[in-house]
Amino acid sequence: MTIFERIVAGEIPCKKVLENEQFLAFYDIAPKAKIHVLAIPKQCIKDFQEADPKLLGELSAFIQEVVKVLGIDKSGYRIISNIGRDGGQEVPHLHFHILGGEKLGSF
Ligand code: AMP
Repeated sequence: MTIFERIVAGEIPCKKVLENEQFLAFYDIAPKAKIHVLAIPKQCIKDFQEADPKLLGELSAFIQEVVKVLGIDKSGYRIISNIGRDGGQEVPHLHFHILGGEKLGSF
């Protein structure tokens, strides 16, 4: 079971931002920006590469709602998904990092 599945199951607490039947958004425990939230499917899918494009579309629509709740839809934000070893993925459960709340550095 991934740590994110344990969060979905309520075994590990999280600071929730938004939730629906399919997806959950919660604050990252080690924020890399003023606002750093993770958006995940509740069902464990390993990574972006393994994900059904339809699910990715639905997750994108969910993220559009999450950033409205966070109040950063107008100011802007960055979404990142790390994939696999070279992508630096630590948790093998598809997630998008949502970063914002301040001017982010270029990379
Ligand atoms: P990645 O390196 O893309 O797999 O990112 C995993 C992210 O999960 C990191 O930014 C961690 O800080 C975050 N993380 C790990 N455990 C927790 C947790 N219990 N609650 C919130 N975020 C977490």
